Amino acid sequence: MKIYSKIKDVEKHLETLRKDEKIGFIPTMGALHEGHLSLIKEAKREATKVVCSIFVNPTQFSNKKDLLNYPKTLEKDVKALKSSACDILFAPSVEEMYPGGNQEYLDFDIGPIENILEGEFRKDHFKGVVTIVYKLLQIIKPHQAYFGEKDFQQLMIIREMVRRLKIPVKIRACPTIREQDGLAMSSRNIYLSPEERKKAGLIAKTLFEAKTKKTYLSIKELKNWVINTLQDISSLKVEYFEIVNEDEFKPIKNWNETAAARACIAVKLGGTRLIDNVALY
Ligand code: AMP
Repeated sequence: MKIYSKIKDVEKHLETLRKDEKIGFIPTMGALHEGHLSLIKEAKREATKVVCSIFVNPTQFSNKKDLLNYPKTLEKDVKALKSSACDILFAPSVEEMYPGGNQEYLDFDIGPIENILEGEFRKDHFKGVVTIVYKLLQIIKPHQAYFGEKDFQQLMIIREMVRRLKIPVKIRACPTIREQDGLAMSSRNIYLSPEERKKAGLIAKTLFEAKTKKTYLSIKELKNWVINTLQDISSLKVEYFEIVNEDEFKPIKNWNETAAARACIAVKLGGTRLIDNVALY
């Protein structure tokens, strides 16, 4: 696996490759787990060269303590990427991606999806996400880029950005990889104490159960049931639970508004913030 930290070096390498190879790209913030590696696997099936990036993007963190504490496990990540037969790792510094400390956001109007759910609780988060994904897509210029459904709102926003800015890349969505008890894999799961880790499994369990209740509960009733079930767990706080229509990512009030409803949740468990979502169809 080739490892680059400078934009001009990775660009030069990819320029020659791009003529004959199909390039698949997976942007990450590192601390890699099976969820990330499933994206690499999917890329390996479709592309002839797979590029992964590791960059903890400061502009998508509204909470600076969260940024400082974000897990960094580069050596372990390199091993995991090599075992997954990743071809190229791009791991730039903050100075490389935001030269001169200029952390200006991309001038792109995300629209109403920016400020709901994740956007409501993480101010400017998606501005930072579109900024870095745009920059990375301009550098790597992949044929396909792979994103996890785990971050469903992010996936929708990136799809929309690529469509509106006419960036020539196919966006591929990959299913959420879960632990045995259903907990969605996340780099943040390592923050959970053993007791919190046990409770964390109940988030997905409740979402899966919600899916079975869809046939006989209204949206309002279902939302109340999910929130009350989870709020009963000590040290767990629901930040939001919302049911959206998947095509536009708009909260819905009645089941007949869409055939593709998705339940999205964010909780705080002790000091750790966890998100998850499931399709309700
Ligand atoms: P992150 O490093 O958290 O920025 O994630 C990088 C990519 O991996 C994003 O497209 C995420 O949606 C995806 N991802 C993270 N966790 C999972 C998971 N459990 N299953 C599938 N994809 C995931």
